[in-house]
Amino acid sequence: MGIFEQMEKYGHEQVIFCQHKATGLKSIIAIHDTTAGPALGGCRMRPYDNEEEMLFDVLRLSRGMTYKCAIADVDNGGGKCVIWGDPASDKTGEMFRALGRFVDGLGGRFYTGTDVGTYPTDFVQAKRETPYIVGVPLEYGGSGDSSIPTAFGVLEGIRATAMKLWGSTSLKGKIFAVQGLGKVGAKVAKSLADEGAILMVTDVVQANIDRFFDVVPDAAVVSPDSIFSLACDMLIPCALGAVLNDRTIPELRCKAIVGSANNQLLDEEKHGTMLKDRGILYAPDYLVNAGGLIQVADELHGANPERVLSKTNAIYDILLQVYELAEARNIPTSIAANQLVEERLNRIADIKRIRGSATRSVT
Ligand code: NAD
Repeated sequence: MGIFEQMEKYGHEQVIFCQHKATGLKSIIAIHDTTAGPALGGCRMRPYDNEEEMLFDVLRLSRGMTYKCAIADVDNGGGKCVIWGDPASDKTGEMFRALGRFVDGLGGRFYTGTDVGTYPTDFVQAKRETPYIVGVPLEYGGSGDSSIPTAFGVLEGIRATAMKLWGSTSLKGKIFAVQGLGKVGAKVAKSLADEGAILMVTDVVQANIDRFFDVVPDAAVVSPDSIFSLACDMLIPCALGAVLNDRTIPELRCKAIVGSANNQLLDEEKHGTMLKDRGILYAPDYLVNAGGLIQVADELHGANPERVLSKTNAIYDILLQVYELAEARNIPTSIAANQLVEERLNRIADIKRIRGSATRSVT
């Protein structure tokens, strides 16, 4: 498919190719939809096999950001940036300064920060060239560790799901299977333990299990392969994407799935439907893991931790709304979340038709 065909198919507004020979920068910025506000999305660095793969990734990820911003009620649109290269060997500070110049040229249509393969310190360099950067370290004006609000949002999602399943947010005595004890998973699991839940946990890195055990010694450790087939109340995927697929869904013995991992459904429509048919309640990942996004977006308004907390808290009500919509329309929760976003963006677009006092007249 040609580039314009892909942009038309997925609804992208703008794609920018950036090249700077002296620093080796080869980057694509995709702006999907700016109905709700300037595009916002992280910058991923990967040794892509070819340009097609790189373009596909940035188009897919930027579209995902539109949905994530809209469902979290953040006044930003969807965008993303990708850099072609190996983060371990090809990265330099000057490369990120060059990227900063390109981002600056967009005049505030796009804000970026870290993603897979890039770190807050890389964006300290980019920020020397442009103000349109988020997620830098605290000492450079950033808002700090995003895994804290992300974990908080996942917990709100778990509570909303408990309310839907059992009519109560109490998690005491409920059984949770947690995949991944990294930055988010360990925080979620610790909070569940504090609320009297029974935990089964797994990770592929023994040091992460040991660290968790120091804090929650009575959690049961299971092998990474067995986590999907455990009889439990909720499965909490906090490791990798595409974990809900043809192989794992038939094995599941949980009542609901609520986790931080991005893109948990290998195929949104097909696997969302399989979960619905099996009667397993699925909390759309891009809603329940939006706490980190809420925090970086908040930097654009002068970071305010209380506001971040209250916006992340709202994940509880939004998720219940998604569950109700899915039930009323008899559709998978993943599709209900998408429909909620699309309907909301249409309403916002209509509001923006109203000419405000600050609107510059072109006549
Ligand atoms: P992390 O790298 O700190 O933790 C991931 C953990 O999963 C690691 O401990 C890793 O060893 C473990 N893991 C990897 N493969 C595994 C497997 N097959 N089985 C069991 N464990 C495995 O990452 P994180 O920041 O905690 O993020 C977790 C997930 O949430 C990721 O998918 C990430 O994209 C997503 N997410 C994170 C944030 C955030 O603010 N950190 C925000 C939104 C989404």
